[in-house]
Amino acid sequence: MRLRGIRRSKNVEVRRGGGRGGRGGGGARAGGLGLVGVLFVLGIGYFTGIDVTPLLNGSGGSAPTQQSAPVSAEDDAATQFTAQVLATTEDVWDKVFREQLGRAYEPPRLVVFSGVTQSPCGGASGATGPFYCPADEKAYLDTSFFTMLSQRMGAEGDFAAAYVIAHEVAHHVQNQLGILPKVNAARQQSSQTEANALTVRLELMADCLSGVWAMNVQGLMERGDLDEALNAARKIGDDHLQKQAGRVPQPHTFTHGTSEQRARWFDRGYDSGQVGDCDTFAAERL
Ligand SMILES: [Zn+2]
Repeated sequence: MRLRGIRRSKNVEVRRGGGRGGRGGGGARAGGLGLVGVLFVLGIGYFTGIDVTPLLNGSGGSAPTQQSAPVSAEDDAATQFTAQVLATTEDVWDKVFREQLGRAYEPPRLVVFSGVTQSPCGGASGATGPFYCPADEKAYLDTSFFTMLSQRMGAEGDFAAAYVIAHEVAHHVQNQLGILPKVNAARQQSSQTEANALTVRLELMADCLSGVWAMNVQGLMERGDLDEALNAARKIGDDHLQKQAGRVPQPHTFTHGTSEQRARWFDRGYDSGQVGDCDTFAAERL
């Protein structure tokens, strides 16, 4: 992705070296999360769009205890990259909202943190994976995530990372459109299997909306970028992640869709550039 000369978004909030509890968490909630806190995090996490978490469910490790991390040059590069990609999402969604939806777009804030930090949706760490919290309308991204994406998940390339940022912003778009609260309410009335199925539709829509974003930044894309995004979408498909974890894929537990579905819905948005083509809830077949 060609980002030279692209502005940096002002909506990035950097939280450095968060130890237990993190800095910038308000300080009111001192102490560790505790078991109840962890359960709370997991419960909330499932319906706020945590995207890479299934990978970690299968990895078998205990919760990481991260220490304060010094600011590295890598972190700085990751933060700059994130701020520039976020700026492209602001420009694209501002335009798409005006042209296709006839309304104004209010951009989200994006928290870039290292170590751990707090959000109204619960604590966040490198193990949480990027997520969007509707309660404060902020996306959360750990700087080590980019390394994990390429080294542990096999999703290489800057555009793979940009796609993940665009996906989290897409959850904010869903929130702005009132879709997120509606689906969350429906989930509360559903069985676990039904709730998972609703989440899959929400996630595939976010992938499609990421494709709409990508279509609108074609001018910044380099050869291979589209493949990087499609490859990343496949690498974080539920069936792929469960297989990687040594399990037989269990479709009723899927929350994000299969590799094939994720790549196809991204591609659909990329092909048409129309928000209206991303209505997974109207689709007979996902
Ligand atoms: Zn998501």
